[in-house]
This record gives sequence, C-alpha cells and structure tokens, in this order.
Amino acid sequence: MSIQHLLRSDLRRLILLLTIISSLATLANAIYASYRVQRQLLIDNTLEANHAYAAKLANSTEDFLKATLQTLDYSTRILRHNMNDTEQLLEQAMRLRLQFNSFNSVAITDAEGWVLATSPEALAIKGRRLTTAGPAQALLEKRPLISDPYVAITGRLVVFISTPIFDTSGEYLGLVGGTLYLNEGNILHNLLGSHYHRDGSYLYAVDRNRTLLYHPNPDRIGKRVGPNQAISDVIAGKDGASIIRNSEGTEMLTGYTPIALSGWGIVAQRPIQATLAPLHDLMLQVLKNSAPLAILTLLLAGILARKISKPLWQLAKHAETMDHPHSSDSIQRIRSWYFEAAELKKAMLIGISLLQQKIGKLNLDIQTDPLTGLQNRRGLESALESWESSHQPFAAIALDIDHFKQVNDNHGHDIGDSVITHVAGLMRACSRSADILCRSGGEEFLMLLPDATPEVALMVAERLRERVESFLIPQVGKITISAGIAFWPNGDASPRRTLKVADEALYLAKQSGRNQVVVTTDTNPNDH
Ligand code: GH3
Ligand code: MG
Ligand code: MG
Repeated sequence: MSIQHLLRSDLRRLILLLTIISSLATLANAIYASYRVQRQLLIDNTLEANHAYAAKLANSTEDFLKATLQTLDYSTRILRHNMNDTEQLLEQAMRLRLQFNSFNSVAITDAEGWVLATSPEALAIKGRRLTTAGPAQALLEKRPLISDPYVAITGRLVVFISTPIFDTSGEYLGLVGGTLYLNEGNILHNLLGSHYHRDGSYLYAVDRNRTLLYHPNPDRIGKRVGPNQAISDVIAGKDGASIIRNSEGTEMLTGYTPIALSGWGIVAQRPIQATLAPLHDLMLQVLKNSAPLAILTLLLAGILARKISKPLWQLAKHAETMDHPHSSDSIQRIRSWYFEAAELKKAMLIGISLLQQKIGKLNLDIQTDPLTGLQNRRGLESALESWESSHQPFAAIALDIDHFKQVNDNHGHDIGDSVITHVAGLMRACSRSADILCRSGGEEFLMLLPDATPEVALMVAERLRERVESFLIPQVGKITISAGIAFWPNGDASPRRTLKVADEALYLAKQSGRNQVVVTTDTNPNDH
C-alpha cells in the first residue's frame, strides 16, 4: 500500500494504522527494555557468582597455605635438635609428606642447601645440593617462603613451600620445605578442580608473574597468561569482576580474588554466551505473555476505530447528497455520539434546512409576480399542468383594465403600478384560497376557479367588476375592467386553449363597450 493510498484512506484505517503502529512500538519497546534488563541481570548475577566463587576458593587456598607454613614451622622445633640424626630427619620428612598429605615431596637441607633427607626417598637427591630457584631464594632469604613456579632438579615444574630452621641461639641451620608438582595431582587440583565445568565455565590460578599454577587444561600449566585486565588487577592485589576476552577470543564473565600470602590470584570465568543462553527463551516468554494483551488491544482499537469513524463516514457520505429531499431524515438517524460528530451533524442539518428553505423560496420567487404578489405566467403554467393531469375542472376569467394607457399617461407609470396593485388586491378579496390568481402581463390578469360552474364564475367576475368600478382610487378616480370567461374541460380543447378562449371573450367584452363580462361555454374549433 503506497503512502498516497494510505493518506487517501478513510479515518477508520488511519486510526487502525495509528493503533497498530503504536501497539507494535510499545510492544517492541517493552520487549527491548525487558531484554536489556534481563541481559544485564544475567551478566551481573554471573559476575557476582564468579567473584564469590573465586573469593571462596582464594580463601580456602590461603587457609591451606597458612596451615602448611604453620605445620612446617612447628616441625622445625624437632628438626633443630636433630640436624645430624639422619633417621630422625627421614622420619620427619616422611611424616610431613604422608601425615598432611599436602606435599608431593618433602626435603630437609642444611644451611648450604645440601639435602639431608627427602620423602619419598626414591627422589634420590639425598646428598645433592639444591641450587634451583625456589630453594636458592629460601636459603638466601632465610624466611618462610612460597616460591614462584620453577623447574626442580627432578625436571618437574614445582612450587616450593619452606620454613627456615634456626637453633635456639638463632643460628641458621637450614630449611625444611615441600613441593607441589604443578603438572601432576596436587593439593591445588583438589582445592580448585572441584569447580563444575558445565557450559564452558572454568577456574584457574596464576602467580604474581602471570604464570598459570592451575588450569583445567594441563598443557597450559606453567605457561604465562597474555595481558588481560582481570589478571593485572588480581596480581596487583585487587579483587572484582569484569567482562574479559580470553586467550581464545571468547568474551568471559570473570570474577577474581587475590591471595595476599602468596601473591597468587584465583580467577573464575564463564562464557558470556553460556550465560545469555536462557535469554532467548526468556524473550519468547515475554512475547508469549504480552501477545494476548497486544491482540486484545488491537481488537478493541479496531472496534473503537469503527465506532469513531462510522458517524463521520456517514456524514461525509451524506454531504455529497445534501440536496436530496430525504437527506435530512437520514442524517437525523446518524448516531453522532461524540462532540465533533454531533457538531458536524448539527451543522449539516442546519445547512440542509437553510438550503431547502432557499430552494423553496427561489421556486416561489420565480413563480411570483414581484409587483402584485400574484402568480406569474410560470406559476400559472405549473398549476395548469397539475390540474390537467389530475383532470381538475376549472373556469378561467381573463381580465384587463380598461383604458389603462390613459392612467399611465395622465398620472405616470408609478401611479399606474399602484392601480395594478389595487386591482390585484380586489381580485384577492373576491376569490377563495383554492383559486389561482395570476398577473398574466402588464395590466392583464387571469383567475382560475376550480370546480366553478358558469354561474359561479360569472358571479365572481361580476362582483369583481362591480367592486373595481365602485372603488375610488386616490389621485386616479374610478377605473373599470373587462372580463372574459371560458371553461375546462370543453370538448378536447387543452387548458391552454381555454385561456385563449377566455381572452377572446375578453376581447368581445372590450368590443362591446368595456366594463362588462363575457362568458363563452363553447370553444371555437377554427381558432385551434
Ligand atoms: P384597453 O385595454 O381598454 O383597450 O385600453 P388600454 O389603454 O388598456 O390599452 P392596452 O391594454 O393596449 O395598453 C396597456 C398599457 O398598459 C400599455 C402600457 O403602457 C401599460 N402597461 C403595461 N404594463 C404596465 C406596467 O407594468 N405598469 C404600468 N404602469 N403600465 C403598464
Ligand atoms: Mg391590455
Ligand atoms: Mg387595457
């Protein structure tokens, strides 16, 4: 449908269109708003959940590290008295590994780093000197230490957790420490690996250098993580949650918490896509819930559009035919139930009534002689037509003022006019309401008397003649009239012919000396 077509449409369609557009816009807006809210809610919830999860696991890990350092510290009380007792050292190393089940291996060294005892013994590093990064730093700094990941003598990637051994006088005797094998089953796996890995969610741990200590993909352990805001924050000691693009380019909802004791960070992630997966169903649900109301609204709008447009449409239709005789009645029947329609209806009814009054008056005017108010020739014709078709018998009296020319000549045309008006008044006085009185021209008149017998017609004409004759007109004096009378039906003569016959009778009256009435009951066939 083109715009032009739409613009030319009726009010009902326009209202309907308006309603459909606004309903759809409202619906779309509601769905979009709901979509934005739901989406943000899902994202916020997941970020919060991931942050909470990272915090919980960071806590457990920190608790574990604290407990481990305490255990090691406690063991130095025994060790410092037995640094030369190989049996005892071996016993302690074994106890530390097996009893607490936290370390993959345990080693005790002297102040130079020479290994005094290990568990398991199968490590076969007893008597060797530990020079690798972890122990070297611990020997140098002589304090409780959780090392960065490094490759041990055995070739394994490990983290070394150790405590210094001092004798009672404070002399440094060596250290006792345990390793976590990062690439094999270790306590971190137990602590962190219980995270459920549904729909791509996962958890990992990094050290202060972005090196992965734990990751569900074992190949990535020991590797560095690329630059990303979550890692930067967590190793700077901040915790929080944000949306991060991971190493595979997937957008991740990430929660993270640092472990102050070790400088590590725990990061929990969930792909944004997995989080937003229910959104589709949620939106369908919203649509399903709002559809019935939307349809109902449209339905009601349709009905209302019809109700609103109907009276206007009907009025518009009748506006085209306001000159029809019954348009007033049919407009009257239109139910214009609201202000504008009611006003239009009122205006149209007034318009029609004025129009019809005007038409009626015009019709009257064109059939009326303005000077006398009698009918003119046109009025006479239409009366004759109707009488002829209804076979209404009548008598026709033709009248003419005698010597009228002299009146004009002696007193002027205006006085002449007043004489004409005077005669017309007398004609009215001598006639009945059913009679037709006509000024047929100049100072000539016609009276048509329905159902009048020759006697009655003659009587009427005579009475008129006498009254004219006896009346004294101011300034003019007395005047007379002559009259001729004919009747219809008469043979097969037409009403028009009857008028002519009456005229001929009038002519006879003039010829016979004026101021008299001549009656003809016969038509003269020769004059047809
Ligand atoms: P008669 O009929 O007796 O034979 O004589 P008449 O003088 O009346 O003669 P005629 O009928 O021929 O003359 C009519 C005159 O009436 C002619 C004209 O000047 C005058 N007349 C016609 N119409 C009017 C009119 O409307 N007003 C006036 N004042 N005079 C009119
Ligand atoms: Mg005349
Ligand atoms: Mg005359």
